[in-house]
Amino acid sequence: MNLYGKTLTELSELAASEGLPKYSAGQIAHWLYRQHATSLEQMTNLPKAVRQRLSERHSVQLAPPIRTTESKDGTKKYLFAVGDRYVETAYIPEANRSTLCVSSQVGCAMGCEFCATGRQGFQQHLSEGQILNQLRSIPEFDRVSNIVFMGMGEPLNNLESVLRATEVLTAPWGMGWSPKRITVSTVGLLPPLRRFLAQSRCHLAVSMHTPFADERASMMPVERAHPIAQVVEELRRHRWTGQRRVSFEYTMIRGLNDTPRHVEGLLRLLAGLECRINLIALHPTPDSRFSPSPAETMVRFRDALSERGITTTIRASRGLDINAACGLLSTAEQRAHIPSSTNYISQ
Ligand code: SAH
Ligand code: SF4
Repeated sequence: MNLYGKTLTELSELAASEGLPKYSAGQIAHWLYRQHATSLEQMTNLPKAVRQRLSERHSVQLAPPIRTTESKDGTKKYLFAVGDRYVETAYIPEANRSTLCVSSQVGCAMGCEFCATGRQGFQQHLSEGQILNQLRSIPEFDRVSNIVFMGMGEPLNNLESVLRATEVLTAPWGMGWSPKRITVSTVGLLPPLRRFLAQSRCHLAVSMHTPFADERASMMPVERAHPIAQVVEELRRHRWTGQRRVSFEYTMIRGLNDTPRHVEGLLRLLAGLECRINLIALHPTPDSRFSPSPAETMVRFRDALSERGITTTIRASRGLDINAACGLLSTAEQRAHIPSSTNYISQ
C-alpha cells in the first residue's frame, strides 16, 4: 500500500491494525507531509522493528516526472507515468504567485467537444497519492503557491481521491495549506457537487461556457444530466462562508458564445449569486469546428459584464507553445511521441 496521500484517519487505522500506539499515525503524517520523507526507513522516531515490519507491506510511492517541457513564457509541463499511461501537470509561474494545474484522472468521461482530454474518453482515476505526487515530485515543489484542479479529468467524478488529496494539503497534520490556495474546477455534477460544498472549504470553479441549455448541451453532454440552471440554483442555496468563492470558467468561442445575448443570459442566470467569471480564449484542438473569439470581443464581453456588476477577468493563455494551456493537456499519443520528441528536456 502507498502511504503517500493517506489521511490521518487512514494512518490511524493502519497504526491500530499493526498494534502501534495511536500517536504513531501523527508521526507518520509528519514524516510524509512536513519532513518529506521518501521512505519508511527515514522515519527514525518509529522503532526500527516497526519500520521493518511496515515496509513489508507499505511504502512511500513517489515518482518524478518522466519528461519536462518548458515554454518560452516560463510555463512548464510535466509528464507523469501512471501505470502504463500518462498524465500531465502544468506549472505556471507569475510575478506574485505560482500555480500548479493538476490532473485528477487519466482522460475524462465528460466528452466536452472542445477539450483534448475529453476526446480521449475515460481511462482511469488517479489516487490521492498520484494527485499529490504531481506537486511533491516537481523541482518547484516549494514555490507552488496555488493549486488548481484544471488539468486532465473531472475532479468531481473522482471525488473521494480529490477530497483526500485536498485534506492532506490543508490539514494541520498534513501540509497545512489554506484552502483558499486551492480551486477545484468542475462541469457541475450535482450529487458530488453537494458533497464537495459540504465537506471541502476549497474554492470552486464551474465550467459554464454558455448560459443557454441547448447550446451547452450541444458541446457539453453533461448538460443533459446536470443542467447548469440546477447547478447555479444549488450554488445560490449554499451558504458561502469565510472567503470561499465560486467562479465560472467561460471559454470564449467565436460567434458561438461571445455575443451581447450571452451577456444578458449570464446576468439573468447568475442574478443574486456572488461570483466572478473568468474568460479564457478557446485553445483550438486539432480538427475542431470551433475557433477562439478575437481579443477585442473578449474585452467587450468582459467590460459589459463588469459594468453590470459581475467581476470578470480575462485569463492569459500560458504555455500555448508546449500545449500546456487549458484543454490542451492530453496524452493520447504520448507513447508514440516520447521516444522521438526533441521538445522535451530530459530530467
Ligand atoms: N473537468 C474540469 C476541470 C478540467 S478542464 C472542468 O471541465 O471544469 C479545465 C478547464 O479547461 C475547464 O474550464 C474547461 O472547460 C477548459 N477547457 C477545456 N478545453 C479547452 C480548450 N480547448 N480551450 C480552452 N479551455 C478549455
Ligand atoms: Fe472533462 Fe473538463 Fe475536458 Fe470536459 S472540459 S472533457 S469535463 S476535462
